[in-house]
Amino acid sequence: MRIVLLGAPGSGKGTQAKRLKVELRLAHISTGDLLRAAVKAGTPLGLKAKAVMESGQLVSDDIVLGLLEERLADADARPGFILDGYPRNLAQANALDGLLARLGQPLDAVVKLNVPDADIVKRCEIRFEQEHRADDNPDTVRKRLQVYAAQTEPVADFYSQRGLLAEVDGVGAVEAIGDRVLAALRARA
Ligand code: AMP
Repeated sequence: MRIVLLGAPGSGKGTQAKRLKVELRLAHISTGDLLRAAVKAGTPLGLKAKAVMESGQLVSDDIVLGLLEERLADADARPGFILDGYPRNLAQANALDGLLARLGQPLDAVVKLNVPDADIVKRCEIRFEQEHRADDNPDTVRKRLQVYAAQTEPVADFYSQRGLLAEVDGVGAVEAIGDRVLAALRARA
């Protein structure tokens, strides 16, 4: 299966993707993780991305598409994948469409995790204390939520129009949310 997980920063995409990876034997592809690895490795691309990420803005579409394309070529992505954090705007949604059409691997489903902003802010505060991600500081989280509302929310409509979107309540126990995600996916399989 080829799945996109949509949702605001801190909505639980990464957490749920880890479970789906195990249950459905899919590759978990997080563009945020790919970018953080590039920053950590100090590659030229990572150096370019660092300040943008710390400001809560989106890294340029070209850079992220390049990273994604490379990652999709890995053997573990052949049987299917969960995209976590991509696409983040309509240009990326269109680019993904084109890329997957070229590969002959269209998406099967898009699951959106719905979590109110107040819960997001609390979750990111906790993650900031635990993981010390610079972009989880409260000011940057507010910026990321604005970017999400302006640029990523329209992506949900894009997939809804294609009949691919399932919306899931992302509030509650991690396991219960995971059960909802799996039920939504099984309903489309
Ligand atoms: P995430 O871990 O998905 O919340 O991503 C962390 C940060 O990486 C985001 O706030 C962006 O700066 C950058 N990023 C991750 N995925 C993308 C993407 N698809 N397009 C642009 N920037 C991204």
